[in-house]
Amino acid sequence: MSKKIAIIGSGISGLSCAYLLCEKDYNITVIAKAFSPNITSNRAAAFWFPYHIRNDKRGVSWAQKSYSFYEELSADASTGISMKQLIKVLRENEIEEEPIWVDFIPKGACKKVPQENLSPGVEVAYDVTVPLIETQIFLPYLKNYVSAKNVKFIEREISSFDEIKDDFDFVINCTALGSQKLCNDKTIIPVRGQVALIETKTDFPIYLDNEKPLYIVPRKDAMIVGGTYEENMYEENTEPSTIEKILNNAYEVFPELKQQKIIGSWAGLRPYRPTVRVEKENNIIHNYGHGGSGFTIAFGCAGEVVNLLQ
Ligand SMILES: Cc1cc2nc3c(=O)[nH]c(=O)nc-3n(C[C@H](O)[C@H](O)[C@H](O)COP(=O)(O)OP(=O)(O)OC[C@H]3O[C@@H](n4cnc5c(N)ncnc54)[C@H](O)[C@@H]3O)c2cc1C
Repeated sequence: MSKKIAIIGSGISGLSCAYLLCEKDYNITVIAKAFSPNITSNRAAAFWFPYHIRNDKRGVSWAQKSYSFYEELSADASTGISMKQLIKVLRENEIEEEPIWVDFIPKGACKKVPQENLSPGVEVAYDVTVPLIETQIFLPYLKNYVSAKNVKFIEREISSFDEIKDDFDFVINCTALGSQKLCNDKTIIPVRGQVALIETKTDFPIYLDNEKPLYIVPRKDAMIVGGTYEENMYEENTEPSTIEKILNNAYEVFPELKQQKIIGSWAGLRPYRPTVRVEKENNIIHNYGHGGSGFTIAFGCAGEVVNLLQ
């Protein structure tokens, strides 16, 4: 008889595990207290880029596996994934961070912008090809895909793994910040990100400037302009004065964006942990704490979960 697996959590971490496991001989149920669009994974800017993972060597292969996976899926527009140009600028006091993230980038996907094309104040800039994952399209795509392969979904909050352990052979824990309580893990904390949304310009590259800080992500439905990094903030609200500041940062670099109508804002809580936990503990496999890189490493981590299960 096929083994019964519960995946707790229906964000990108849980759904990527369901995706890789649904072709195998398992009886899978995803249990979550909330689903897309009411979860952190929907609020990600969701471009592929290593963040919060640069000092973890495991991250290189997780990120590169995920990159290849997204690149393949980008051939099908219905996934909401496309390969985009990303311009990453480094200002004077950031130069030393350069080698760390470059190691993550697949060969041939990154080149330096010629010196004569740099904007004032920018010391170095990189032109990188990366996957952009439009969460509003990709998360429903994944859910539909695995549902068609007989994965079941149940809306339920669990307060302890003991509640379900007798009903399943294995439990995969993809609860992100929910693991604070479920695993009594004090090392995972929320890092709030507030972003503004403006009318889109899809011919725009993704733009990343950590010094300002500023990132711009041209999705089909809106351009995401971010953002903040606020540790230990549990409130998922945005503050008008912060949103104004984020937009002013963007207008300083790209004055032409003032013409784009402001259409909203949102905030999400990155599930930050000093190291991502992908680990087996008896019949529980943990997969949480992906911080600001949940999409960037999701399918690499899910691959490791599959290995631990087998
Ligand atoms: C503003 C912002 C920008 C970002 N940009 C990027 C980016 O560009 N690239 C990138 O790679 N990442 C980005 N991220 C990070 C990314 O969003 C996260 O790393 C990722 O969404 C985490 O996914 P997850 O599935 O682990 O968690 P979540 O999406 O939080 O899913 C957790 C799931 O667990 C369920 N759950 C929790 N507790 C329980 C419980 N007790 N019982 C039942 N169910 C439970 C929840 O309901 C939910 O279904 C960004 C995040 C923010 C906030």
